[in-house]
Amino acid sequence: MDSYALHLAMAALVGATFAAASAYYMHRKTLTQLLDFARAIERERERGGGGDEKRSPRRRSAEQHQPTDRRSAPRYYRRGGVGVGVGVGSISLPDVLAAAAAADGEDDEEEEEEERRTVVNAIFSAEEDYRDLLIPPGLPRLHTVPEGNRQIVRSCSNKRVGVIRPTSPKSPVVSVSAFDSLDGSDEDDNLRDDSKLGDIYLNTNGNLESEPKGFFQPLPNNVIVNGESQPLAATSMIRSHSVSGDLHGVQPDPVAADILRREPEHESFIKLKISPNEIPSTDEMEVYKILQKCLELRESYVFREEIAPWEKEVITDPSTPKPNPNPFAYAPEQKTDHYPQMVDGVVHVYTNQHCKERLYPVADATTFFTDLHYILRVIAAGNIRTVCHNRLNLLEHKFKFHLMLNTDKEFLAQKSAPHRDFYNVRKVDTHVHHSACMNQKQLLRFIKSKLQKEPDEVVIFRDGTYMTLKEVFESLDLTGYDLNVDLLDVHADKSTFHRFDKFNLKYNPCGQSRLREIFLKQDNLIQGRFLGELTKQVFCDLAASKYQMAEYRISIYGRKQSEWDQLASWIVNNELYSENVVWLIQIPRLYNIYKEMGIVTSFQNLLDNIFLPLFEVTVDPDSHPQLHMFLKQVVGLDLVDDESKPERRPTKHMPTPAQWTNVFNPAFSYYVYYCYANLYTLNKLRESKGMTTIKFRPHAGEAGDIDHLAATFLVAHNISHGVNLRKSPVLQYLYYLAQIGLAMSPLSNNSLFLDYHRNPFPMFFLRGLNVSLSTDDPLQIHLTKEPLVEEYSIAASLWKLSSCDLCEIARNSVYQSGFSHALKSHWVGKNYYKRGPDGNDIHQTNVPHIRVEFREMIWREEMQRVFLGNAKIPDEVDK
Ligand SMILES: [Zn+2]
Repeated sequence: MDSYALHLAMAALVGATFAAASAYYMHRKTLTQLLDFARAIERERERGGGGDEKRSPRRRSAEQHQPTDRRSAPRYYRRGGVGVGVGVGSISLPDVLAAAAAADGEDDEEEEEEERRTVVNAIFSAEEDYRDLLIPPGLPRLHTVPEGNRQIVRSCSNKRVGVIRPTSPKSPVVSVSAFDSLDGSDEDDNLRDDSKLGDIYLNTNGNLESEPKGFFQPLPNNVIVNGESQPLAATSMIRSHSVSGDLHGVQPDPVAADILRREPEHESFIKLKISPNEIPSTDEMEVYKILQKCLELRESYVFREEIAPWEKEVITDPSTPKPNPNPFAYAPEQKTDHYPQMVDGVVHVYTNQHCKERLYPVADATTFFTDLHYILRVIAAGNIRTVCHNRLNLLEHKFKFHLMLNTDKEFLAQKSAPHRDFYNVRKVDTHVHHSACMNQKQLLRFIKSKLQKEPDEVVIFRDGTYMTLKEVFESLDLTGYDLNVDLLDVHADKSTFHRFDKFNLKYNPCGQSRLREIFLKQDNLIQGRFLGELTKQVFCDLAASKYQMAEYRISIYGRKQSEWDQLASWIVNNELYSENVVWLIQIPRLYNIYKEMGIVTSFQNLLDNIFLPLFEVTVDPDSHPQLHMFLKQVVGLDLVDDESKPERRPTKHMPTPAQWTNVFNPAFSYYVYYCYANLYTLNKLRESKGMTTIKFRPHAGEAGDIDHLAATFLVAHNISHGVNLRKSPVLQYLYYLAQIGLAMSPLSNNSLFLDYHRNPFPMFFLRGLNVSLSTDDPLQIHLTKEPLVEEYSIAASLWKLSSCDLCEIARNSVYQSGFSHALKSHWVGKNYYKRGPDGNDIHQTNVPHIRVEFREMIWREEMQRVFLGNAKIPDEVDK
């Protein structure tokens, strides 16, 4: 027992002294002493027997007599020793740990204990006689630091150097001192140090005497120097660190300043020539002819402006366009005699009331459904699927080859574009619903502040009484203090997967429809004042971020014609305007619900309510001045709702909307046709009057049948989601060829219909589909203040997207968006409307020409292949 106590005492003593000594070293901050300490261990070890002779007999005898102690004591000792070693050594004193690790490596526990004793001795003696411990230059290496640890030290030092050094034009050679390289001012000193090994060696040892400069003294490098088996010339040795240390992509030579001086436009890229023998077989040619027809069908449907915006308005000054000082000022505009009349669900426009000739004919429903069926037959044909599948695979691999050959060049080009990086290239949130555009924290804070500042505001009429905000919360048994994000409970979770209904129910703060009505509706007792204020806050955040823009989708239900005026007056009265924001109108496909409620009698009612006011205001802006002003900021029309609901595929001859009086909801493509046809006519009319046009940009392919995507292929400008394209190679290939924009929201899909890791976004991106990233519903999906960056960030991490990829996606988002020609010119370059590299300005987009040129080249090759060499590709996009 005596010896057990002795062991305990020893252990305590060792632990305490070790800690004390270590603290002392921390205080001095001179790592050089630790080197000496390591040498002391070595010396003790070499001295060998001395200490052992004195102590071991007693211990050995004790162990012989009481074997149980042998097990317990050393174990306790080890725990204490390791504890100290980790606590002190791992963070700041790597070679102490190294020494301890070396000791730990010994098999024999007795020897280990002896090692520890010598460690203690060494610590005691290190302070008094460190002068004795100095090793003159040229002595053989020390064996205290194991190989592995030396590697760690080396890579650490390289990392520091790698981060700092290559930016300095004067010293392509890595400097000796990591500390010096931090302030970067001692170039000449470094060079001088490089020249002589002896100097460095003496300097470092001599640093014990001199005033410590800081924690990162030259020691770590010199530990390596000591560790080298053969003394090397300093210059070669140091250089070898920088060259071999490419763990962190350290490039020894290229210098940042040189990169900046280089013109990024002149980067050439390695082109892959793999098509010379690609002559399509006769079977393939047949397939291509069919694909041609599909593309031509689309061209015959989609609305294009007669005169492109860049032809109407030539931008000479690419600087920031002046913000509209008074976006809601109404200047009276000429009423025209145009006479719109609803005929079988589609508005016909005549020059005047007496004229019989229809002005802007559009394909009728039967033609549309016939063409739709043609597309559906095409996408089901086996041989066509095979060809498209192969082409898509080839596209994917071509891009992978491109990356293998050109990634470095692309990155270099990005580095050489001054000022621009991912954070300050413009990115548009191409698909986000206004009703869920704020984040949950923002909504929570807003509710709390309203409860605090306006508790007596009468906000709702419920159960026959008017209630103030305070009373509403009392009726819910809630106080402002109770509220938190969890209670708010608007976030999508596991329960919403494949449950669009539950997802929608989540859109009730605290599960209470009355809170939804007060805070998230425009047509409530307070005329949507709260929602307006909240929206303004969101606008402010966007403006503060400067490089993020959004296209908010806001609902028109089609229950009554006055909805348009209500919405417009809400926008105008709350002055909801931002240079970073445009609007899209979304129409929920809810005919069956209104029919059941008796709000509408036929589908025709719905169409009347949605489209007649638009024609009215276009013909005579004075009739709805606020709506007229609002429409200037509306760039698109959207169709929304749960696509996964089962539906019947439309036949070629469908009942007209007036005949559609049953309680069932029409199919997706039925909605698509009537919205498209009316919008097409409206746009023609608006264009003829010099007004802005509204693009058809519905949700499609989020879930449900593939024919949704076939319908939107024919008529939509671009679409939201499109994840179901993964199920149809033919449609996917057609969407690629037509470069139809896909505003994809993988996080939203992950909450509702498709796990993140199965999302086809990365595949679409590789293949060259026109994809952008968007948030869909930040309130219900995202966690941070910048949902769009969160979306990019998660995609970048999980799919390993490079900075170049991200900037390309951001650039796509600007193209897909409906912002004005002037803004697009400012954001992505004044020639943005030209195809290929001519339209790219790396100084604005941070996308290398190499990337744009590659995409353009591959797409042109593919188009020529499909059109058998006769493709007519315009020089401008969107024509
Ligand atoms: Zn959406």
